[in-house]
Amino acid sequence: MTKGNINVSVENIFPLIKKFLYSDHEIFLRELISNATDATLKLKHLTNIGEAKVDFGNPKIEVKIDKENKKLHIIDQGLGMTADEVEKYINQVAFSGAEEFLDKYKDSAKDSGIIGHFGLGFYSAFMVAEKVEILTKSYRDENPAVRWICDGSPEFTLEETTDKTDRGTEIILHIAEDSTEFLEESRIRELLTKYNKFMPVPIKFGTKTETLPLPEDAAEDAVAEKIEVDNIVNNPTPAWTKSPSELNDEDYKAFYHELYPMQFEEPLFNIHLNVDYPFNLTGILYFPKLANNLNIEKDKIQLYQNQVYVTDEVKGIVPDFLMLLRGVIDSPDIPLNVSRSYLQADGAVKKISSYITKKVADKMVSLINENREDYNKKWNDIKIVIEYGMISEDKFFEKSDKFALYPTTDGNYFLWSELEEKIKLSQTDKDGNLVVLYATNADEQHSYIQSAKDKGYEVILLDSPIVPHLIQKLESSKEKISFARVDADHINNLIKKDEPAISKLNETEKETLKKNVEESINDKKFTVQLEDLDSTDAPFTITQPEFIRRMKDM
Ligand code: ADP
Ligand code: MG
Repeated sequence: MTKGNINVSVENIFPLIKKFLYSDHEIFLRELISNATDATLKLKHLTNIGEAKVDFGNPKIEVKIDKENKKLHIIDQGLGMTADEVEKYINQVAFSGAEEFLDKYKDSAKDSGIIGHFGLGFYSAFMVAEKVEILTKSYRDENPAVRWICDGSPEFTLEETTDKTDRGTEIILHIAEDSTEFLEESRIRELLTKYNKFMPVPIKFGTKTETLPLPEDAAEDAVAEKIEVDNIVNNPTPAWTKSPSELNDEDYKAFYHELYPMQFEEPLFNIHLNVDYPFNLTGILYFPKLANNLNIEKDKIQLYQNQVYVTDEVKGIVPDFLMLLRGVIDSPDIPLNVSRSYLQADGAVKKISSYITKKVADKMVSLINENREDYNKKWNDIKIVIEYGMISEDKFFEKSDKFALYPTTDGNYFLWSELEEKIKLSQTDKDGNLVVLYATNADEQHSYIQSAKDKGYEVILLDSPIVPHLIQKLESSKEKISFARVDADHINNLIKKDEPAISKLNETEKETLKKNVEESINDKKFTVQLEDLDSTDAPFTITQPEFIRRMKDM
């Protein structure tokens, strides 16, 4: 038997990373900005715990195109690297400095928002660059800056340089012939909007002109002063990273439009997700006006990880029925594959999905309890989500009696219990099942609805495209219930149970009335009965042992 080590040669691995690790070349920018963000967050953490004695200031990340020289620069003011650190973190493929940092500072750093994970992101630069330069200076002042250059072969050069005097790292990509699209301002702007819109460190891309407001006492012909300011492309503190107590309705709406700039309609409700055990997850989900629309082509829920955009393919993380909603979910605990663009399905994802389901159900309960009238009004626009949830998620169905509504053709919105109460005496079949009469189209079934109403029946309107499934679910889960469409013939066989008449008089009034009647009859053979009458229109009955006679017949 022979034992040995498999020999991995960098010459072979390198092209593999470049060509096959990432399906999409454009993610190089996401990776490099993530590293710049990590470098900034690490320095922030070290300053907070007193390990770095520097003026942290208000660091930003700058992205700069140098079209003439075919270069793209990503510049940060983070912790930088010494020559030794470049050797350790950059020259060792698949060694993650981010992982190492989180390991070293464990508990204190667990909420620092560090993004890096696999130690591969940096090399994605070679998908678009024929040569990559790193200019970096560590926050530990005594070290001079260093320059690392590599042309994509496993050979590199590393030397001290005086070209950089301030703290931080500058990555310079010499863009390859086949990737010149990344020298276009519009293309870079598009990528920054897609991946970096909500990242935690301000990102500067060019400058913009701002007009200063005129002082109040300005002369009529005064010209407002214009100044050049940094064009910051991201919002480092998006609503979902804040606590719900800091936000009002307007803030939630404003964030909705920030997330979907092309969406002009207002959302109906929002659900702020915020959990830190057994996994970390934050986010905001919105109910759009859906009516009976099951089409979710655009404006899908976006998945983020530590404020970095990952994907809008959230199948699996979010149960299917909630994919009709909009919003964001951010979780560092969602397992992604090494390219960070796909989900690795596993148990954790299932837990996340059922947490979200529970949270949505709880929110519906509080919404209906807070403002029933408002909830009724919005029902038609949200019902498709709720009904879809009821037929597809048992846990959701179990709670749905508290918030699923059954609108009648008369414009009432009943909870199941209210509907049951309303029809329990008038709509049963010969086996004692409760029969729920429903219409699927108020116009087409108008005459049937009318004749059912004439008979005193309650007709509910179930018009969403998934109603057949909903009915099946309700019939199979609730005891002694059957549904009958309003134009089905057997509604003629419904049985009316007689209702015990309940007196409108209070106890004292009843006593007085009884006494008065008994006195005026003045015959001990008669009994006066005020309740449990066999007809609803008699105010009271006087009975004798042998016969019952209604007062009005006398
Ligand atoms: P990961 O981010 O998953 O750790 P990368 O391949 O993206 O892996 O980067 C490798 C390491 O190089 C980082 O962990 C970090 O230590 C170092 N590094 C990369 N970019 C920078 C930067 N801009 N500033 C400081 N260190 C950096
Ligand atoms: Mg990285």
